[in-house]
Amino acid sequence: MSRQGILSAIVVVGLAVAGVAAQPPQRPRIPPTGAIKHVRDNLYVIPGAGGNTTVFVAQGGVVLVDTKLPNNGEPILKQVRTVTDKPVTMIINTHSHPDHIGSNAEFPATVDIIAQDNTKANMEKMDAFKGDKAQFLPKRTFKDKMTLLSGADQIDLYYFGPGHTSGDALIVFPALRVMHAGDLFAWKALPIMDRNNGGSGIAYPETLQKAAGAIKNVDSVIPGHSPVMPWSTFVEYGQFMQWAVDTVKQAARDGKTEADAAAAIKTPPDRFKDYTTERAAANVTAIYGEVKK
Ligand SMILES: [Zn+2]
Repeated sequence: MSRQGILSAIVVVGLAVAGVAAQPPQRPRIPPTGAIKHVRDNLYVIPGAGGNTTVFVAQGGVVLVDTKLPNNGEPILKQVRTVTDKPVTMIINTHSHPDHIGSNAEFPATVDIIAQDNTKANMEKMDAFKGDKAQFLPKRTFKDKMTLLSGADQIDLYYFGPGHTSGDALIVFPALRVMHAGDLFAWKALPIMDRNNGGSGIAYPETLQKAAGAIKNVDSVIPGHSPVMPWSTFVEYGQFMQWAVDTVKQAARDGKTEADAAAAIKTPPDRFKDYTTERAAANVTAIYGEVKK
């Protein structure tokens, strides 16, 4: 390459880098804890600083779903205080990732903490919950289904199998017809398949479709990281994931390389064209790892 050619190449690379920095794609840097948003009746969501935090103002106190990254206990409480003076009495963790459980320990140790069995097991392995901090592990767990509180305050917790992790809980507020989906449905995008925490690409679509079939009377879904969406989008997400995982399994059967398999799911068919696929390569690695087992 001539000197001029090298210089041009450097300029092009420089522009590409600047372009990425100026226009972050689908996953911008994590914003701070945002302002609380009203979802319906006594249900709110606080975005930012990790996963969405759902705020359910029940008769006996405030129920939080997920507590964001560490150091967000005060910011969460500040937002809660704008809608109620009731104390936080219960935390439900959708799964074990630090951006969903990070501020558990910043609430009083008397707060009831609830999660799926496998999520508690995943949390027990984390340094953040060793020693004194073990008191901020889930105090109650469930396997497939659990009902908390009653009447208008009823909350139903469901588990349908591995996907994002081995312990993804779906949290339904039946009186409000709203579900908090956690990261089993975080974005309209290919997901993280965290095999180190028991997640599974192969099982992912089946888990979503079991949920879509079994859960009734929900019309709004709070995804793990994006704004509220209609139930129909959650159902469609199961179909999107079925397409993606089937495509990768077929590529594996055809003896295609991981790069070719990733290319095959990089551009979804028209009906899923607004889904982002930047995790294609990581998803293929996860699924190929499972196929070869
Ligand atoms: Zn997660």
